[in-house]
Amino acid sequence: MATNRTFTMIKPDAVGNGHIGGILAMIADAGFRIVSLKLTQLTVADAQAFYAVHSARPFYGELVEFMSRGPIVAAILEKDNAVEDFRTLIGATNPADAAEGTIRKKYATSIGENAVHGSDSDENAAIEGAFHFAGREQF
Ligand code: ATP
Ligand code: MG
Repeated sequence: MATNRTFTMIKPDAVGNGHIGGILAMIADAGFRIVSLKLTQLTVADAQAFYAVHSARPFYGELVEFMSRGPIVAAILEKDNAVEDFRTLIGATNPADAAEGTIRKKYATSIGENAVHGSDSDENAAIEGAFHFAGREQF
């Protein structure tokens, strides 16, 4: 059964380009409630572990370097059908394919530097959220 939470990161490109406020506004306007929120930074080891599923891909080293190079915003979000609806809100991985009105259409600059992460399943949303936030930080 689908749960009602997902996990997101505003990636180092979007934080560095000053888009935290714009992206959080799009998230709020789409009806997501913020359960947890923080500015933090992934270590290289964190980024390697987070994207371990892609470790055999040619872009893995670049991805790990990118995701650990500066601060990110981590957040747990709540809404009915959260995982799927948030993937719709962020748009396709490659901003060239992202639909109008999506976060990646507006803020992503390339397939690698694509502004936001969204969990791909309820199971991963729970794992990713628990990595960043203790129970007392989830409201
Ligand atoms: P995310 O998991 O960050 O939400 P996604 O689920 O849309 O993104 P994945 O296939 O899980 O896409 O890829 C993870 C990340 O790896 C992408 O968001 C992007 O930053 C990077 N990436 C994926 N494909 C490529 C590629 N062909 N070249 C460079 N980077 C890529
Ligand atoms: Mg993914």
